[in-house]
Amino acid sequence: MSIQEKLEINLGKTVASASNEEIYRGLLAIVQELAAEKEHAGGRKKLYYISAEFLIGKLLSNNMINLGIYQEVKEMLERNGKKISEIEEAEAEPSLGNGGLGRLAACFLDSIATLGLAGDGIGLNYHLGLFKQEFKNHLQKETPNPWIEEKSWLKKTDVTYPVMFKGMKVTARMYDIAVTGYHNRTNTLHLFDLDSVDETIVGDGIDFDKEDIQRNLTLFLYPDDSDEQGRLLRIYQQYFMVSAGAQLILDECMEKGCDLHDLPEYAVIQINDTHPTMVIPELIRLLMEQGLDMDEAVEVVTKTCAYTNHTILAEALEKWPIDYLKKVVPQLVPIIEVLDDRVRRKFDDESTAIIDRNNTVHMAHIDIHYGFSVNGVAALHTDILKSTELHNFYKIYPEKFNNKTNGITFRRWLMHCNPLLTGFLDETIGEGYKKDASELEKLLDYRHDENVLNRLLDIKYKNKEALCDYLKETQGLEISPDTIFDIQIKRLHEYKRQQLNALYIIDKYLEIKAGKIPSSKVTAIFGAKAAPAYVIAKDIIHLILCLQEIINNDPEVSPYLKVVMVENYNVTKAEKLIPACDISEQISLASKEASGTGNMKFMLNGGVTLGTEDGANVEIHEAVGDDNIFVFGASSSEVIEHYAKADYVAEDYYKENPAIKAAVDFITSEKMLETGCEESLMRLKKELINKDWFMTLLDFEAYKTAKEKALKAYADRKAWAEKMLVNIAKAGFFSSDRTIREYNEDVWKL
Ligand SMILES: *Cc1c(COP(=O)(O)O)cnc(C)c1O
Repeated sequence: MSIQEKLEINLGKTVASASNEEIYRGLLAIVQELAAEKEHAGGRKKLYYISAEFLIGKLLSNNMINLGIYQEVKEMLERNGKKISEIEEAEAEPSLGNGGLGRLAACFLDSIATLGLAGDGIGLNYHLGLFKQEFKNHLQKETPNPWIEEKSWLKKTDVTYPVMFKGMKVTARMYDIAVTGYHNRTNTLHLFDLDSVDETIVGDGIDFDKEDIQRNLTLFLYPDDSDEQGRLLRIYQQYFMVSAGAQLILDECMEKGCDLHDLPEYAVIQINDTHPTMVIPELIRLLMEQGLDMDEAVEVVTKTCAYTNHTILAEALEKWPIDYLKKVVPQLVPIIEVLDDRVRRKFDDESTAIIDRNNTVHMAHIDIHYGFSVNGVAALHTDILKSTELHNFYKIYPEKFNNKTNGITFRRWLMHCNPLLTGFLDETIGEGYKKDASELEKLLDYRHDENVLNRLLDIKYKNKEALCDYLKETQGLEISPDTIFDIQIKRLHEYKRQQLNALYIIDKYLEIKAGKIPSSKVTAIFGAKAAPAYVIAKDIIHLILCLQEIINNDPEVSPYLKVVMVENYNVTKAEKLIPACDISEQISLASKEASGTGNMKFMLNGGVTLGTEDGANVEIHEAVGDDNIFVFGASSSEVIEHYAKADYVAEDYYKENPAIKAAVDFITSEKMLETGCEESLMRLKKELINKDWFMTLLDFEAYKTAKEKALKAYADRKAWAEKMLVNIAKAGFFSSDRTIREYNEDVWKL
């Protein structure tokens, strides 16, 4: 039976007469059926990837690509007067993640299934997601982001597990989302939820009663933790996830006939950042309930769990007061105390203790002592972990430390988001790169082929036109594809330095106002959500939105410079922005961005990086060579030294560099105060002059020089096209298939 026949039976009407929503739901059912046919148990050992976030993006097209029916469906729809892009609009993007870490988890699930490995995800089913970002009066407003519909990719199961909190027992229910591999098996993302959760308790914005656990537990990802109730809620969420997850893992292993002493032969658990850390004491607890003694349980768990570190920012390494754990999960406290006691007996080093002298539990320390593998996510990041942040642990356990440079799935970040480039690559180098990404290097044979270079420029231009249409439609913004698209899209964080980009824009604006007409026309595009309680991050969004208002409406400036802040940046928006990018802004303070994966997506789509020697930018630089990237700024070792000596004084840069002073002063100029909010702008200016913890001003001059160089290089279209080509050709290393192969060979051994 053809897909059209199947679809029409399902719809009870012809495709031509069905609405986009009906077709979406019909295709969803067909895809779920096809995906289910590819589920199988696999061998004895299975990977469980536990993560607080899975930023999976819309699934319809991605699953159709992976199942090999995308082209057939697209053509069938066209024959019936429908467009696949309009059907895609009917799907709500699942809101189960926040940023890079969650997107990484999603890319990994895709690659695990694509490589035919048995590996499932474990997480939580957040009803209202992170939050939806709206702009009002040039400020970020947060509203709930409901995404679960009557018919969705979520399958409710009958699997339930009891989860005990202090004085309260709840029942976790498992929901499943099928994870299709590209022309390979189907795995599962298991998301736990609580039947009693009630979306109607959310009042103004994203406010709700943080103590009503039965009704709020899985409402939001990362609920506000600026008060104790919020922090306790995060512990409730974390324990709920790992307790249900651990019970699932033990159930599945026992079903396969596993004697629990042999657990490491049946299961390997990858702990994605510290949020799932309590799975370690919880598994120990459950194994002891099953009759193992403490020594045995600790040994078994240590051989089963592996930990991925995602950041060296001290404030992000989770620490909980032991009193919080006593209030929520008292059953884990004696276990954690024993774990701490063992460490203290073995190593006379306060810095590696689990419970410190202030009775605070260091979650990462549990992972490192009681897991068998610790990995960083880019070469530089792992080196910094070993030499600085986790040096004392590295001295104890050198064999546990390893690097796994992040990657991205080419199914979503090339085949799905950039069909024009994909089609062109198919014609030029064949389709082998879809299974073996290193084959992209075949493109290097064409680096001096004018036809090929022109085609690349033409595809980029078409993608820029499509983005212009999209931004016009969704936000009423008018921009031109004949300008350079300079894009910085990522979570708003001071270390990522959107403020550096904004200062450059102010500097350019002031130059144009002073009569210095630039030789290139630039559209600076941003997209970023700020954590609701992160004041300075929201101030930076406010600054960018005010600049957008002032610059775009200034007839002297806007022919040369425009600013665009895309609302509610998410995977769907990323898929439209990335193929249209000329210059990829990766300007974090060196040593602070663990890896980045946005940088890889841009590279793969022919965006040229303007970046610091940070995270995976270092490896991108090595891959493409000096001529095909623009790097600038202080090195990570210089930055680390500045922190060690505490000798960076932002105010010196402000006083001594007139361009910096003018740009920073502009933040509170009359024009800005007319447009924006005085309190926010004053606070941001003060922060930059008096603190500037992420050393924006340190790199201002170097950034300006590098950016001017990139803008100038863009004018030589042929040379630029060659840079695009080399970036695409060298992107193969950054396929998450490569990353997952490495995890499997070195860590999981499935
Ligand atoms: C890839 C991705 C990120 C991560 O971007 P970085 O630049 O690596 O921080 C964040 N959000 C979304 C929606 C993404 O697709």
